[in-house]
Amino acid sequence: MYDAIIVGARCAGAAAALLLARKGYRVLLVDKATFPSDTISGHFVFHPGVLKLQHWGLLDKVLASGCPPITKMVFDIGDFTLTGQIPQEMNGLPFGIGPRRTVLDTILVEAAVEAGAELWQGFVVTDLLRDQDTVVGIRGRSSDARDITEHARIVIGADGKHSKIAQLVGAPIYHEVPSLTCWYYTYWSNLPCDSLEIHWRHHRLVLLFPTNDGLTFGMVGWPHQEFHEFRGDIEGNYLKTMRMFPEVADRIANARREERFVGMADVPNFFRKPFGRGWALVGDAGHHKDPTPAYGISDAFCDAELLTDAIHNGFNGQQTLPDALAEYEQLRNQRAIPDHEYTCQMSRLEQWDNPDMLRLRAALRGNAEDTGRYLAMAAKAIPRDVFLAPQNLQRIFQQAVHLPT
Ligand SMILES: Cc1cc2nc3c(=O)[nH]c(=O)nc-3n(C[C@H](O)[C@H](O)[C@H](O)COP(=O)(O)OP(=O)(O)OC[C@H]3O[C@@H](n4cnc5c(N)ncnc54)[C@H](O)[C@@H]3O)c2cc1C
Repeated sequence: MYDAIIVGARCAGAAAALLLARKGYRVLLVDKATFPSDTISGHFVFHPGVLKLQHWGLLDKVLASGCPPITKMVFDIGDFTLTGQIPQEMNGLPFGIGPRRTVLDTILVEAAVEAGAELWQGFVVTDLLRDQDTVVGIRGRSSDARDITEHARIVIGADGKHSKIAQLVGAPIYHEVPSLTCWYYTYWSNLPCDSLEIHWRHHRLVLLFPTNDGLTFGMVGWPHQEFHEFRGDIEGNYLKTMRMFPEVADRIANARREERFVGMADVPNFFRKPFGRGWALVGDAGHHKDPTPAYGISDAFCDAELLTDAIHNGFNGQQTLPDALAEYEQLRNQRAIPDHEYTCQMSRLEQWDNPDMLRLRAALRGNAEDTGRYLAMAAKAIPRDVFLAPQNLQRIFQQAVHLPT
């Protein structure tokens, strides 16, 4: 009998296993994948995720893998290119890092095992065990085709947006918004890039950042309804989009593509009720969102910490487990519901160059410190309501030298 069985061993599941094992619980972590394993995903980890990795003692390991810390951001929407460095408040920690998932997920899984979690790879969970209306364990198939059952005090679904656990318990869905975008990405050598670059024009988005092995990750976003058109000529549409941006076009002309194109249009936005009797959900399984603002990984880390704190409080009697898990849902939503509204707005890829945005950018031009803070807001290092507070904006506009009349 385990204290917790965690289904899914990536950002959410391996982090939850690590944290529970470090608290002394008996944890079984299972995944149908075998690590190191890649997955269809961008992998820019924003500041809150970097903080978690640092707090868990894993940041040095991730950086030592050769993915550079990103201390500069470039934000281009057609008026001019806003470029900023990390502001003082960030204490020298980067806006983010871009480790390959083969690297990041493996470091997390190894740390969970080192902390005492048991790992079953190549193991597919097919069903849940129940005692009346309470989940008490899992049923699954091992890599050598054996049917296995195991029991636990709680089963955690960290098994991604199409969560089998969520499906088996019938977790209710709320705040649902269908897919708004579609994406294709690949990896380039000889494409110089030392920043997180965000380029937007007319319903098109390009994201670039440096990752492991000296490569640059390059992803193109289009509106969801144009996915079939994109798919009709993946390379042509990818390159055409990259070439829309003069600062990218020059570099892509001399770059060499090192990997195949990977695409995805299944990026719905929703929340699931993340707990019930004997079960909980974390990461994409509990809350999925469009990749436009690239918050999925850092959110998975934050929620893994919230959930494991709640389970600990429930198991040690500080709260009843249902109360502790209800608080987990509340704290998750307190952070994620405002982000969800922002994400859906940005993911429509419309009017990023609205008059308010252009006016603020013009006011920031030449103001290095506030530009850094503005970009730190996108990196979730400075809360939006702090940067966008009327008195802060008023101060920026008063200091502005480039404000349009
Ligand atoms: C195109 C795209 C780009 C993205 N870019 C970024 C980005 O730049 N930055 C960012 O922060 N986020 C990004 N995201 C989001 C990010 O990928 C997710 O938020 C993140 O992977 C969530 O991690 P997770 O651990 O919750 O789930 P997942 O990474 O989906 O892991 C779930 C795991 O569960 C396992 N599993 C599933 N079912 C079972 C089963 N029945 N039995 C056993 N194992 C099972 C799977 O094998 C998998 O390993 C992007 C997503 C997409 C689609």
